[in-house]
Amino acid sequence: MTVKLRILGGGREVGRAAYLLEGRERVLFDYGVNFDEKDLPQLPLHVRPVDLDAVVISHAHLDHVGAAPYLFITGKPKIYATRPTLDIARLLTIDFLKLNAAVIEYDMLEFEKMYSSTVFVDYQESVEQGFKLVFTNAGHILGSTMVYLETSTGEKILYTGDVNNISTWTLSGADFLPVGVDTIIMESTYGGRNHPKRHLVEKRFVETVEEVVDKGGTVLIPAFSVGRSQELMTLLTSELPYVDIYIDGMVKDVSEIYLKHRKFLRDPGLFMKTVENVNFVTKASERKKLVSKPCVIIASAGMLKGGPSVYYFKKIAENPRNAVLLVSYQAPASNGHKLLEEGRLPELELNEVKARVEWYDFSSHAGRDGLAEIAEKYKASLKNVILIHGGEDDQEVLKKELAERLGGDVKIVTPKTGDEVVLSP
Ligand SMILES: [Zn+2]
Ligand SMILES: [Zn+2]
Repeated sequence: MTVKLRILGGGREVGRAAYLLEGRERVLFDYGVNFDEKDLPQLPLHVRPVDLDAVVISHAHLDHVGAAPYLFITGKPKIYATRPTLDIARLLTIDFLKLNAAVIEYDMLEFEKMYSSTVFVDYQESVEQGFKLVFTNAGHILGSTMVYLETSTGEKILYTGDVNNISTWTLSGADFLPVGVDTIIMESTYGGRNHPKRHLVEKRFVETVEEVVDKGGTVLIPAFSVGRSQELMTLLTSELPYVDIYIDGMVKDVSEIYLKHRKFLRDPGLFMKTVENVNFVTKASERKKLVSKPCVIIASAGMLKGGPSVYYFKKIAENPRNAVLLVSYQAPASNGHKLLEEGRLPELELNEVKARVEWYDFSSHAGRDGLAEIAEKYKASLKNVILIHGGEDDQEVLKKELAERLGGDVKIVTPKTGDEVVLSP
């Protein structure tokens, strides 16, 4: 029986992950959205829910789950995810629909239908319905999983989702099963380069925060609400316990979900202590007081596009005593990117930014060597590596690295959205 993988989205692009395994059974890995230059959502290719035996959602980011409620407009496919994944996805979906209700054809009703149809899984749990799925920690955000699929015709496939194989303050690095795998469907977001050593990034970051606060300045950290904010809260309360830390924006709601599902954290007690030691901003009127005192403010959004981070930025940017520390990915057209490139932001009426502006690499994705090491673990049985969820240049670099490490017998491909990859003829 021919077994193939159809790339419904996320081929040579970071976003709208959607990969359909077609053999005796059909399993859909993720169904996410992407955003174009005008920030309009782009959907993956169509699939009929009635044709699906299982849908697996790897984690809560919208580029993995944002299109999944579409499947529940006309159907009710069997869906697997961890509880934190759907709890965080609910918050992100509410926010997403506020901005995109005009172009997205589902609403929260479909999301809730999806939620109530989900079979919730834990790490190391396996489910069998003629074929076998095993879920393991992917180390990317709370509840993120990798998926091992053994088809009823014997193919052994690993889908990495978004993966990080180093441990951080909040999450353990990804867990791998010691089994034979013949195909890896692998993300490649940072396939083109390695990240700097995390402990060195942390050291430089903590020193900068300390220096600015000691001199009476305010440090603004615009950060993604999911993952990055919780990571930096934990790092800073542990390393600089005497510094006042304020948290603003959706971060608070996400942190509550982190607390609720703390068994998915590396050190649940440490995160509980962190939450007790930070201050959550609950009223807009509190914001004014913060911008004139020595403290740290962690606020969404991470690219200085909307959210309370923009308010704080406008208030503190003109004073050289303050600092703006960017810690999230900055898309090319974003405010954060422009600020780093040009040192000013006329879009926010700031022609002269005097505050210290710096960027730190706190990525939650494995870099080139990390990804290559994942493939190497399965070298003995590996036949195919399908690189997805990455730009073309990054994929070419990773492909070369993989070819060197794996030898000539392993087929490494970088399909486009719309392509089909045959796994067994
Ligand atoms: Zn992700
Ligand atoms: Zn992603």
